[in-house]
Amino acid sequence: RTVYVNGEYLPEDQATVSVFDRGFLMADAVYEVVSVLDGKLLDFAGHMTRLARSLDALAMTNPMSADEYLDAHRQLIERNGITDGLIYLQVTRGNPGDRDFAYPPEGTAPTVVMFTQSKPGLADSPVAQTGLKIVSVEDLRWGRRDIKTVQLLYPSMAKMEAKARGVDDAWLTEDGTVTEGTSNNAYIVKGGKIITRELSHDILHGITRAAVLRFAREAQMQVEERSFTIAEAQEADEAFITSASSFVMPVVEIDGKQVGKGDVGPVATRLREIYLEESRKSAV
Ligand code: PMP
Repeated sequence: RTVYVNGEYLPEDQATVSVFDRGFLMADAVYEVVSVLDGKLLDFAGHMTRLARSLDALAMTNPMSADEYLDAHRQLIERNGITDGLIYLQVTRGNPGDRDFAYPPEGTAPTVVMFTQSKPGLADSPVAQTGLKIVSVEDLRWGRRDIKTVQLLYPSMAKMEAKARGVDDAWLTEDGTVTEGTSNNAYIVKGGKIITRELSHDILHGITRAAVLRFAREAQMQVEERSFTIAEAQEADEAFITSASSFVMPVVEIDGKQVGKGDVGPVATRLREIYLEESRKSAV
């Protein structure tokens, strides 16, 4: 693979970052993941807007313009021959030359790293036909989940717990309601209505979430943004998740109980089709 580090395109085994980089020492970094279908970037503008918001929330200066990011994404697609896959982008507060809790003085250059993950057939995942099984796990993350930081240890632990319990993923719960999935937003469908938690500091403001809710409303589907419990999800007609890497993916089992008839439902299927069709149209 050819990867991007601070303006350079390098073979992955020659790409290095300092041991004093705050991304490494303190998870002082934010990231984005953009999907690529047919060599084009999905929801690119949305991801760059959220990146700017994450950086702003942490008082980091955005080191590159949206056009520069676009160029780097395209170069990586080209240099790695990516048809379908993901592009990972991380911006850290950089290397102050030592370890210190205080932010480094102004002028410390951020570190920008980007790499590709080739996923042939990303949009044709067979899981979309069968659905995911999930378990609920208490949400023990920090209080600013709307900032897309690389502090991913707890979601990683939750995912491992899901695997240990023989299922695909976990939904995180706090004060009795579902916040979101380990790396996706969570939804249920009841009586034709799509229900998903409202935006706040409690969840990541998913770029796929925003697009899917817009398409749903345009298709005259009913949307309600509010929190819901695991018990309500188990009694729902359908459940699903959204993310840049999975698009729309049905959930057919929650904590050992099947959702609806236990198969993939029409709303999730339709939203997946609409999302893929529309986001391919606006891909850059
Ligand atoms: N929530 C969390 C915690 C996530 O990690 C992600 C994916 N990065 C999402 C939601 C979905 O966001 P998006 O649709 O922008 O990929």
